[in-house]
Formats: sequence, C-alpha cells, structure tokens
Amino acid sequence: MKIYLIASVEFDTQEFNKVLEILQTTSGLITFINGNDVVKAAPKKAGAITNRDANSYSILENQKAFEANEPVAWAPWADFFSYCNDFRQTYQVEPSDFLVFLTPHPNHRFYFTAFDDTANNLFIHTDGWEEYLTCRAAFPVSYLIMSQVLQKMLYKHMAVKDATAHHQAKGCTNDYCKNKEDIILKLRTADICPTCLKEMLHAKIKEEHILQALSLFEEVRKEMLFKQRYSFNLSPRKMHITGNKGRKKGIVIKLFEINKEIELDPKKAMVFLTFLNHPEGLRYSHFKRTELRNELEYLYRNMNDRENQEVVRTMVDKFAEEKSYRDPVLSRLRTAFTKVLGTELAKDYLITGGQEQDDLKKINLNRDLVSFDPSVTRHILGDYYQAPYKPSVQPGVSA
Ligand SMILES: [Zn+2]
Repeated sequence: MKIYLIASVEFDTQEFNKVLEILQTTSGLITFINGNDVVKAAPKKAGAITNRDANSYSILENQKAFEANEPVAWAPWADFFSYCNDFRQTYQVEPSDFLVFLTPHPNHRFYFTAFDDTANNLFIHTDGWEEYLTCRAAFPVSYLIMSQVLQKMLYKHMAVKDATAHHQAKGCTNDYCKNKEDIILKLRTADICPTCLKEMLHAKIKEEHILQALSLFEEVRKEMLFKQRYSFNLSPRKMHITGNKGRKKGIVIKLFEINKEIELDPKKAMVFLTFLNHPEGLRYSHFKRTELRNELEYLYRNMNDRENQEVVRTMVDKFAEEKSYRDPVLSRLRTAFTKVLGTELAKDYLITGGQEQDDLKKINLNRDLVSFDPSVTRHILGDYYQAPYKPSVQPGVSA
C-alpha cells in the first residue's frame, strides 16, 4: 500500500519534509511517497498545462471563486478532497492507495482531520499544535496520518466514525477527540484498545499495517516524553541552605519555589556540603588526603560539637577508607533527596558520576542556584566558605 502526501502552499516545506521523514523511518508494507517526487517523475505531455507542484494547492484560489474580496474563514472538506482527486487523476494513483492533504487552513467543521467517504483521501489540519505540545507539529501530524488511514479502512464513512469512535476518551487511537488537548492522551498511550483491534482485524485490515502504525505511534510517544524531560532539565530549582535549629542538628535544604524541604543530619550534611564545595568533583580516593578529611571533620564538628573528638575522627577515617561504611551513608543521603523530590527532580542535587568506586563524582547543580543562610556561612562552612557561594537572605524576605 502506498500513501502519497501533498500539501497546500501555506504549509511549511521543512515541516512537510519532517513529516515524510518520520513516516518513512517506519518499516513495513506501507510506503510513504512525497507527492512532489511523483510530479517530477511524470512525463510532460506536449501542449499540456505545466505539471503543478504537489504542494502548490492553495485555498486562495477558491476564495476568489465563492466569496470575492472576503477572506475565507474555512473551506469545505470537498475542496481538500477535490485537490486529492485532481492529483489522483493527473498522476494515476491507484484507488486502493491513500492520498493525504496537509493544510493549515481551517475546514467547515474545524476538525483536525477527516477522510473522504468516496475515496481513500484524507486531510490533516497542521496548525496550532505548539499551543498544546512541546514537540514540533510534524509528530502529531504523522500520528494522525497513520491513525486516519486505519480509521478510513475501519469505518469507511465519516458518519460511522462519528457514531462509533470512543466519545469517552480511553487512550485508544480511535478516541473521538473534540479538542487538540484530547489528542495528547492518545499520543501518550500510543495504543489501540482490544475492542478496536478486534474490529480492525474483522474489517480485514492487515496485521502488518496495524503493527507499522503501532511502531509509528511509539516513535511519536518517545519524542513527546523526550521533550518533556528536556524542558524539565532546563529548570532545576533554587536551593537555600539553613542550619537546623534545636536538638536536631545538621542542615535544612529549602526549595522555596516548590515548597519542599530536605533535612540532613550532620553526617549526611558533612558529605553533601563537601561535594557542594567541590564543583569540579571528587574521587573517593581523594579522601585519603589529609586536607579533605580535615574539611569533613571541620564541617561535622560545626554541626555537632557534643561528639567526642576521637569519635569524630574515627568516623571520618572510616568514611574515607571503608567502602562498607561509606556506601550506606551515600545511600541514605540519596534517599533523603529522592523521597522528597522524586527521582527526576532529585537528580540535579545528588552526587552522581561513573559506576566504578573511584570514578569522578559530583553534584551537577549550577552553583548560581545555591544560597546560604548567614548562620551557615559563618558557623558551619566557616573556613571552607568560598566562591562561588554568596551569602544570601532567604528568597521572599526583603533585605
Ligand atoms: Zn478503541
């Protein structure tokens, strides 16, 4: 089966090519063809009108025809399908093959897609996706092309689709979506429900076609998830560190923007602050150095001065030398963040690095997002307080 793509002149060529690229990466019995290639390959008949570009259809032509001097608010579906039939006739497209017309121009029921009752033609509305989705329009447009081909084969008539598709969204490709927001659910699930799958097979739709559609749906879904994670990565939250008052010693990490707090006891805080102090990263073997052990010890003591000096030194030595002592401390530190922030948001604040014991490890958070309560810079970090840190008042409190 072949699916030909043509577009109205208003649809961006780059986006048109991207749609083709996405569809053409799926492998299977369905082949996707650029209408322009068909036009270029067609023999020119002597005396015939010059072959028209496959992406040169314009609604503006109709405008003159039926409403002189008035802008056309929408075009009837029949107009889109007549372009398809024009192309079919000119280039002898097989009736069993599909022709898809892509246009940003609105249609008379403001559907984002519909198919022709009398031929394998369909159109897709290409405009306005960026308001709802973080990915480019080419992805939902590609999804709709594939899903409409399946729907045309299943329902055959738009009236049947209108009556039969799921009016209550269930995350199936045949959800009847009234708004572009509704489509997000089926883009996320990338699925066909068991009932529809059974009906498709009953309607003699080839399993290979369904599988190719599902693999495309999956590609589109992955792209959407990737974009969400990407935009998430762009915005780690500011972190303000204060001392923990009262009997609980250690520090409190406040993420004011999302109203979250993480409490660290002196041992966890000692490790966290040391790594924060070394944006370049540290290897565990570095803790064999006296100056780093002194740093750990100094920080710990400033948070818990009641502990015996010998006991503190022994604890620091064990942390520096014994993996079996160090690993549980690091694990508890990690948990302190993930249980409050979840794994996604926490990852900017965790000590991360290679899998090997002595790989370089660091906290990736941009240090410009870190601020300290003056009590922390004076009484905890003290001698180890250094650039790039700046003492800061709490966000939201006037200076
Ligand atoms: Zn379904």
